[in-house]
Amino acid sequence: MKTCRFLHDGTAHYGVVEERNGTLWITGPAPIPEEDRAAQLANLRGNARTAFAPMPLSAAKLLPPVTPGKIICVGRNYRDHAKELGNEVPQEPLLFFKPISSLLAPGGTVVMPRVAERIDFEGELTVVIGRRASKLKPDADWRSYVRGYTIANDVTARDLQKKDGQWTRAKGFDSFCPVGPILSDEVDPESGLTVETRVNGELRQHGSTTDFIFSISQLLAYITAAITLEPGDLLLTGTPAGVAALAHGDRVEVSITGLGTLSNPFAVEAN
Ligand code: MG
Repeated sequence: MKTCRFLHDGTAHYGVVEERNGTLWITGPAPIPEEDRAAQLANLRGNARTAFAPMPLSAAKLLPPVTPGKIICVGRNYRDHAKELGNEVPQEPLLFFKPISSLLAPGGTVVMPRVAERIDFEGELTVVIGRRASKLKPDADWRSYVRGYTIANDVTARDLQKKDGQWTRAKGFDSFCPVGPILSDEVDPESGLTVETRVNGELRQHGSTTDFIFSISQLLAYITAAITLEPGDLLLTGTPAGVAALAHGDRVEVSITGLGTLSNPFAVEAN
C-alpha cells in the first residue's frame, strides 16, 4: 500500500495513494498509525475522518508521511560518497541523529542559515519502522519490522560539520530534513532502487540501493543493539556520490524508484 499524510480542513489526514492513468491520486482514508497520538485523539473526537473527495497527490497540502519519534541516520554508506569527501570507507556503520524539529514537508522551503557557508543536499532512501525493534539478530526477519519506505533529503551544513567536530548542528537546523512525498511497502531496496537527485532539473546524484556498504538488515541489527526503534521512527540510509553546495533559489528534487519525487526549494534565511 502507498499512503500519504496531508492537511485537509485544518486537520492532518492519512490517505491511500493509488495510480490512475499514470498520475498519483489520494483515493480515500488510510489507517492512522499507532504512534500518531494527535491524529488518534482527533479521530476519537470525530473530526479526523472527515470525508474528502479523491484528489491528485500534487493538489494536496502534503505533510511528512509519518510522525517519527526519532530520526536516525547513517553516514558514508556508499563507497563513492565516502571517497568524494576524502573519508575512509567505514568498518562499522557511522550513526547520528537529526532532531524532530528539522522535519519538513514535501514542497516546504529549506531555510539556509546565514551562519553556514556551504549547505549540501543528500538524497536518501528512508526506512520507516513498523513495530518495536530491539536487539535484532543479524538473521532476524528484518522486513517484518519495516512499515515501508520513503525519501529524505539529509541537508547538511558541510563547513559546520567539519568545524564543530560532531554533527548535531550541521545536520540539525530547522527544515534540514524534508521527508516524503509518500510511504510505500511496495518496493524492495535489495532488488536495487535508483536514488537520483536533481538541482534545478540537472542530475547530480545517481546511485542504487544495491551499492550500500551496510545492508538494511545489518544496520537494523547494529542500531537496535544500542537503541530501541519504535513505530514511525525513520532510518536514513546514506547518500550516493555527487553532493554539492546549494545557492539561494535552488530547487532540489530527490527521486527513488516507486517512491516518487521529494521536491523542496532552498532560500537563505531572512535578516
Ligand atoms: Mg546523509
